Amino acid sequence: MGDRARRRRLGPLAGLVVAAVVAAGCMGGGLDQGEPQQPAPRESGPAQASPGARTTRADGTTSVAEFKQDFEDAVGLAEKYWTAQFRASGEQFRPIRRVVPYSRAGEVSCGGQGLPRNNAVYCSAGDFIAYDVNWSVSAFREIGDAFLFYLLGHEYAHGVQVRLGIRYDFTIQQELQADCMAGAYLGDSVRSGALTLADGDLDEFREGLLAVGDDPDQPWFAEGSHGTAEQRSEKFFSGYENSLKACDLG
Ligand SMILES: [Zn+2]
Repeated sequence: MGDRARRRRLGPLAGLVVAAVVAAGCMGGGLDQGEPQQPAPRESGPAQASPGARTTRADGTTSVAEFKQDFEDAVGLAEKYWTAQFRASGEQFRPIRRVVPYSRAGEVSCGGQGLPRNNAVYCSAGDFIAYDVNWSVSAFREIGDAFLFYLLGHEYAHGVQVRLGIRYDFTIQQELQADCMAGAYLGDSVRSGALTLADGDLDEFREGLLAVGDDPDQPWFAEGSHGTAEQRSEKFFSGYENSLKACDLG
């Protein structure tokens, strides 16, 4: 730790893929869920923030309490980001009401349906994001710290879709757009200096997404489809590089 002090700005991202252990589940109307596969543990680089910037941090020892705090930081970053985007369009942004960690199946309900373990969702019924904290922490430890920003960015994007009145016919369209919006949130935050990523973070995205793309046999139109690893990464990095104009927000 500590050798590579200052995190570099990111170079061109072409060809990289995304992290989304999140494929697990998102909630709009229905609830989808899935078991994230577990990629091999890897080390991620040390973090050093530039003053005032949020920086992803990683080592294998992050506690649940630290994770919750980092997640809150990611939420704050998302609120700031979307508030600015809405303001630029002359609109006022209403932040997502709550973010709720849980650790037992059924501990949190959305629209009367108990949430399963190993999941993260945006619940439109209550306008909140809920995540299985133990599952999230283990993914964080195994994939890396950047995962957390992707996870939150994707779920937060579902809340933004609701605010914008965006509702596609197929789950996969909704999901891939959320991946694009998560990419834009992260890419723009890096460009503005609000977030600093470490050298290994983009690789973490890639590895994470490779692990959680839909099974190749799953029909794209199926309820719960999120997209293949290739589709998800393409959308994420399209948003990351080109900001929201890549995301068809209308
Ligand atoms: Zn989703």
